[in-house]
Amino acid sequence: MQCGTKLPTEGEGRGLVPKVQPMKRIKRRQIHGIVLSAGIAIGTVFHYRDILTREVERRQLSSSEIHTEYLRIQNAVDHVLEDLDEISRDTSKKIGRDHGAIFDVQKEILNDPMLKADIEKELREQRLNAEHIIRRVFRLWENRFSTLDNQEMKERGHDIADLGRHLLRTLTGSEGNVLRQVPENSVIVAERLLPSDTIRMEDKNVVGFVTFQGGRNSHAAILARALNIPMISPVDTSIYEIPSRAKIILDGQSGEIIVHPTSRLLRKFESLMIQRRRAKNKWINATKGVCLRSGPRGIVVNANVSTPGDIRKAKDHGCDGIGLYRVEQFYMSSKDMPPEDRVYHGLKDALWPVKEMPVTIRLLDLGGDKVLPHLDFPEQMESVLGLRGVRLLLKYENILRPQIRVLLRLANEFKIQILVPMVSVPDDVIAIRKIIEEEKRRLKSQNINDLKTVPVGAMVETPAAVVSIKEIVECSDFISIGTNDLIQYTMAADREKVSVSKYYEMGHQLIIPWLDEIRKVAESNGLDCSICGEMAGDPSYTMQLLELGFRHFSVAPQLIPRIKYDIMNALQRERRMTQSVIR
Ligand code: PEP
Ligand code: MG
Repeated sequence: MQCGTKLPTEGEGRGLVPKVQPMKRIKRRQIHGIVLSAGIAIGTVFHYRDILTREVERRQLSSSEIHTEYLRIQNAVDHVLEDLDEISRDTSKKIGRDHGAIFDVQKEILNDPMLKADIEKELREQRLNAEHIIRRVFRLWENRFSTLDNQEMKERGHDIADLGRHLLRTLTGSEGNVLRQVPENSVIVAERLLPSDTIRMEDKNVVGFVTFQGGRNSHAAILARALNIPMISPVDTSIYEIPSRAKIILDGQSGEIIVHPTSRLLRKFESLMIQRRRAKNKWINATKGVCLRSGPRGIVVNANVSTPGDIRKAKDHGCDGIGLYRVEQFYMSSKDMPPEDRVYHGLKDALWPVKEMPVTIRLLDLGGDKVLPHLDFPEQMESVLGLRGVRLLLKYENILRPQIRVLLRLANEFKIQILVPMVSVPDDVIAIRKIIEEEKRRLKSQNINDLKTVPVGAMVETPAAVVSIKEIVECSDFISIGTNDLIQYTMAADREKVSVSKYYEMGHQLIIPWLDEIRKVAESNGLDCSICGEMAGDPSYTMQLLELGFRHFSVAPQLIPRIKYDIMNALQRERRMTQSVIR
């Protein structure tokens, strides 16, 4: 716990228990956080606290009891393994195999011989009851990972904590009870959420999540997005002042959390929710089967995806193609660095629904907050200004080359383009192209025939790339603008930090002239220029971008109908105006 105050206890361990921590009560209050999963939620606060942070029974064992306690632990482990099987199956069925895989990773951790050896050693040396030993060992293991300055390692720490809790609940017979007793319309307020919390709470009357700790790439956030549950996180320490059972509104657009809203605010957000639901249906119905690509201005609305579930959703929502496939999630859900063939088959399966469409696959964009648990580079712990994206790939060719081979092989069956992340100088693209050519020759010599020419594009997301855009265009086949990072680096404002979000927001308008310049330089050299950061899917900027002349948009799958609808209307207005001028 990072601050002195603890969240009030509402549901934990053996079910719902009365609130025990007196806290500074707040009246009506607005708190701000980062939106990790969009949407509006109106509900009642339910504080959720981790069983691992509670005291558990501590009992000294006699020599004859040690074996009995060992058997209790073994039974609990078997039980949890069966449970994880079931959760993984259910999750895969509900939201896709890639999400179910989170729990397969937990199974692998639980089967780790080193973990088992640690539990046995502690039991022998400490001679304490099973609950105490499990809590101790899992806290130690969690700390080992969570104290590393590396988001992905921290995520693995969360998996370990999740497992520890699962075992404790099984040992104390309080399995899952809290989650089953969450009242209707609850907004869960917690220090953090672990994967199994998010997945189990889904059909348990939960309408939103607010957590103190969290990041865009945390499992909980990824699951919340897949389940369409609004989530705001991280939030500053005022989260500890949110009273239990208070009425609360989450505005998953602005990141505002309103505690004890007035009845006027409640009515406003309730009607906003109804309006949004209606509008969503209207956008879906109006854009079904509409193809703006074949229209006079040839507008393309592609999807940004991370998982096979996203790809299916994008197809259902009428995407023209995949404008940005962030493959990091695929690598992150694996316990080790997946071998070339596994990546090839995994991506091939994922891409099947969009077989006929153009697909832009970004090379692994690691570094900063996106790291792989199985890679042990000191550089990975650097900041977003460190060895990120293409810089890391060029240093570690053993990660880059197999990926390139996979993409070249996939290009025989799919319409693939390769996107290079975090380009800052033309040499970044030139170096990648050279390696692509080398790998192509290697594949040819191995009789992998019919290798197609794969377009290579630069992701423009650093001010340096904007400055050298003319030279970057000369060595690229297409350009894709990543406004999320471009704003972050331009404003020197971390996109994940609430404290500087004001500056981050101001960056949107500031980069507009750059966007205009990048597109003009690219298109005047015959290159397509797509915009794939969040700005492309933000209706308050889509029109501005359209007016600037952008024709390639890549947005989150759920935003496709809305953006298509707005563009469709803008084009109709434009046509009507032209006709009236001609008349
Ligand atoms: C961006 O930076 O705008 C972008 C699309 O990439 P990511 O959000 O994955 O960094
Ligand atoms: Mg980026």
